[in-house]
Amino acid sequence: MGLQAKAAEHINPYEVALQQYDRAVAYLDLPKGIVEFLRYPKRELTVNFPVRLDNDDIKVFTGYRVHHNTVLGPSKGGIRYAPSVDLDEVRALAMWMTWKCALVNLPYGGAKGGVICDPYQMSEAELERLTRRYATEINLFISPHGDIPAPDMGTNAQTMAWIMDTYSMTMGYSVPAIVTGKPINVGGSQGRTEATGRGVVICMDEVLHRRGYNRPADVRVAVQGFGNVGTYAAKHADELGYCVIAISDVTGGYYNPKGLDIDDVLHYTADSPHHQLAGYPHAEPITNAELLALGCDVLAPCALENQITEENARDIKAFLIVEGANGPTTPEADDILFENGVQIVPDILANAGGVTVSYFEWVQGLQSFFWDVEEVNRQLQRVLIKAFDEVYRTQTQFGVDMRTAAQITAIQRVGGATHTRGIYP
Ligand code: NAD
Repeated sequence: MGLQAKAAEHINPYEVALQQYDRAVAYLDLPKGIVEFLRYPKRELTVNFPVRLDNDDIKVFTGYRVHHNTVLGPSKGGIRYAPSVDLDEVRALAMWMTWKCALVNLPYGGAKGGVICDPYQMSEAELERLTRRYATEINLFISPHGDIPAPDMGTNAQTMAWIMDTYSMTMGYSVPAIVTGKPINVGGSQGRTEATGRGVVICMDEVLHRRGYNRPADVRVAVQGFGNVGTYAAKHADELGYCVIAISDVTGGYYNPKGLDIDDVLHYTADSPHHQLAGYPHAEPITNAELLALGCDVLAPCALENQITEENARDIKAFLIVEGANGPTTPEADDILFENGVQIVPDILANAGGVTVSYFEWVQGLQSFFWDVEEVNRQLQRVLIKAFDEVYRTQTQFGVDMRTAAQITAIQRVGGATHTRGIYP
């Protein structure tokens, strides 16, 4: 593990989320009590539960579900399976979900869940048992009108199908709207799997057009993370003619200054163990640290938190960062990048495509009326560009960076709605 990764481990994502919040809320004239209310998660659940492993041993796992805020509607947020999951990470991710949903004008609050486990070391059968038991343990907390989970790191459409089935078994009838990001054949939406990566590229494309870059082939893009978000970000960027010169995952990175053949990479990962890049033969191997510092125009961190810190922010050569991951840049790094003129499209805007199409899936599920992929993608583009315009306007109004502008826009909406609803009782 490199120096940069070690430093990142010591950064608490919830503290980062609070620092960002404090920065943005200072521009707003909200009552002190509401400012304080929005800093805290509304409720938190910790569960410890046993799972039978394939060798018949019983192992106890710890999981969480945190609701940060439900003022605008039911809470919404993914479930993460990773060894590094902890309560503060889940709190941060839940808070970011509140701002993200408000920013793109969805009638949702923010939530997040996670289980401390290594999904890459577990069999499919173990993952199914873990998922069904975790779903049962958090049954109290989730419902189609109260809190709706979705996939995040280490989980996928299959995980959502197991949660949907488990919840439906306890209810006695099928409840597709309990989760989003499901497979299409059990009520998923067209376009959901691709939506987050697609949204990253919609945001990148929008900035580049506004800045006068109209020749995609001349724009060199590096993507960190080749899971759900990174894969579709690289694929969509490639489809639009951008030159994707580097990609990476937890096993390392791959670089070709002339541009990678993304179809060839996808062909390789389709059959590789855990769909990872390890051993990809048609590019130069690099480390994740090298990828972040690569000579390129756009950097899309699509892996995990705290990748761009004060340790490496000065090494960034891209002029644009589009945050596919949640929380990849620390506030100290934000300051350095701002000074260096690097523009950042913040996570709560850049990766909001996922929750936007999740919302479409939820609406379709509740109405049992399904849209085609063209309709989904058209509506996704409309929602993201509208939010993008609003962030640009707020940026101009307050003279701040794009992250602070996005947070101001979102916090203003949630704070305003809290005020309008009034304080119960
Ligand atoms: P995923 O599990 O599908 O993929 C994660 C990728 O990151 C994998 O390629 C993994 O190998 C790589 N990775 C893990 N540790 C790494 C490291 N130390 N260095 C480099 N690469 C590493 O997860 P995902 O769903 O693509 O999520 C990625 C990020 O995007 C997360 O921050 C998540 O919260 C965020 N996000 C996901 C969605 C979604 O719809 N899936 C929506 C919004 C935001």
